[in-house]
Amino acid sequence: DNFDDMNLNPKLLRGIYAYGFERPSAIQQRAIMPVIKEHDVIAQAQSGTGKTATFSVSILQRIDPDLKTTQAIILAPTRELALQTHKVVVALGDYMDVTSLACVGGANLREDMAALRSGVQVIVATPGRLLDMIKRGAIKSDHAKILCLDEADEMLSQGFKDQIYEVFQLLPGDMQVLLFSATMPSDMLELSSKFMRDPIRILV
Ligand code: AMP
Repeated sequence: DNFDDMNLNPKLLRGIYAYGFERPSAIQQRAIMPVIKEHDVIAQAQSGTGKTATFSVSILQRIDPDLKTTQAIILAPTRELALQTHKVVVALGDYMDVTSLACVGGANLREDMAALRSGVQVIVATPGRLLDMIKRGAIKSDHAKILCLDEADEMLSQGFKDQIYEVFQLLPGDMQVLLFSATMPSDMLELSSKFMRDPIRILV
C-alpha cells in the first residue's frame, strides 16, 4: 500500500513525503480512508503505531482551506501532547493553506484569541482550555465537523470525563467523532455509545 493510492490532496501528499514518510503504517492503511469517507472511527492503537499522523492526515484532507474558521478539534490529555500533535499537523499541512493552533493552559490567552480571530481551521487543545475558549466565545464551532479524542483512555482516567461530556454538549451534534485509545475501558464504551454513530472499530 501507498499514500499515492489514497486520493489525497496533492499538497497534503507533498507534505507527507517532505516529512519523510514513504509508506503508510498499518493503522494509517486501515483508518485514513474511513475517516475521509466521514465515518466515525474508534482506533485502539498504542503510541508508536503512527496514530498521530493517522488522524492528522485524515483531518487535513477533510479541511476546506477557503473556510477560515474552526473545522476540526483534536483533544489531548496533556499540554505536551497537544503541542507535539500541533507540530505534526503544521508539518504535514506545510504546503496547504491550513492554520492550526495549539490551545493549552498556560499559553497567552490574548494571543490565542487573536489567532482565532484571524481564522484557525484546526485546534489542538486540552479539554479545560478548549471549554474556556468556547465559553468566552473565542472558538466558534458552527462549522466544526470533526472532533478527535487522542489518548481518550488517558483523558478519562485523568478526570476529564465531565469536561469531555461538556465538550460534546457544546459542539454541533452531527460532528464526525474519532476516538484513539490504547485501551478500551467501560467508560470509553459508554462515551462512544452516547456520542458516536455506527463507529468503525480498528485494532492494531
Ligand atoms: P505515533 O504513533 O503517532 O506516536 O508515531 C510514532 C512515530 O512514527 C513518530 O515518530 C512518527 O513520525 C512515525 N511515523 C508515523 N507514521 C509513519 C510512516 N508512515 N512512516 C514512517 N514513520 C512514521
